[in-house]
Amino acid sequence: MNAVVGIDIGGTKIAAAVVLADGAVRHRVEQPTPAREGAEAILDAAAATGAASAAQAGVVPVAYGVGSAGAFDEQGVVVSSTDHLAGWCGTDVAAGLTRRLGAPAIVVNDVHAAALGERVAGAVPDRFLFVAVGTGIGGAVVSDGRVLRGASGMAGSVGHVRIPSSRRRICSCGGVDHVEAFASGPGIELTYAEFTGRASGLREIGRLAAGGDVVAAQVIRVAAEDLGESLASSVVAVDPGVVVIGGGVSGLGELFTAPLAERLRGALQRPFSDVEVVLARAGTDAALLGAGSLAAGRAEARDGNPAQR
Ligand SMILES: [Zn+2]
Repeated sequence: MNAVVGIDIGGTKIAAAVVLADGAVRHRVEQPTPAREGAEAILDAAAATGAASAAQAGVVPVAYGVGSAGAFDEQGVVVSSTDHLAGWCGTDVAAGLTRRLGAPAIVVNDVHAAALGERVAGAVPDRFLFVAVGTGIGGAVVSDGRVLRGASGMAGSVGHVRIPSSRRRICSCGGVDHVEAFASGPGIELTYAEFTGRASGLREIGRLAAGGDVVAAQVIRVAAEDLGESLASSVVAVDPGVVVIGGGVSGLGELFTAPLAERLRGALQRPFSDVEVVLARAGTDAALLGAGSLAAGRAEARDGNPAQR
């Protein structure tokens, strides 16, 4: 069987699974990322995770698709990275994994991979703006079913846009008052703590808001509106028609997406104001799924035979 395996290299864990043509994920294997041990250790762990999944499935993959933290050039080399993964910048991830695994590894940014995963999950058309709202805020522009990489490998980084604010919050990128610092999970938790003097997790804040707590609901609403407002210029630039909201914060559901959509549409004129805002469907395996589908596509283009994923 011409199988492909998807690998998701994150800051805290590495996951791998066999990805089937219908978008099903099988033989999922997971292990902690040795994030502080350097690039070679991370590559060893990623290769071991991918190989373990293939072995469990009893397949010899024709290709591996990898979604990873960091920005990548077209050859799969890390061109920039936060210091979350030690020594990651400059690493030739594609060559390192291809050598270890004995099959081609195709490597893209993890948010870009997650956007492709949404495409495979079938919830969206072949053109959309993907926004992953979690610990940070990332994004991807998908056009004709392909992810726009961009000049620096970070096209769609919609979290790193300054919003009008006098609060001077420092973003994970070092910028001041970027929307990520307000509308990400930690941003919402910080705002809630500022209002109430209580430290609460995002899930608890969401539970309170759903139960009618006015302050919790207001904190979520303001964060969603900040993001909606800041996405308006991206929507005008890309004209995506659909904005897909994924990541952990999307677990808040309508509490988050309804005010986001309202503010986004309100900031725009037709035809842009017709933009739809929908929740992601592929869940936590989105990056795995997208990376796997990318590998299957490349294998198919190379061999002329559809890979049986
Ligand atoms: Zn930033």
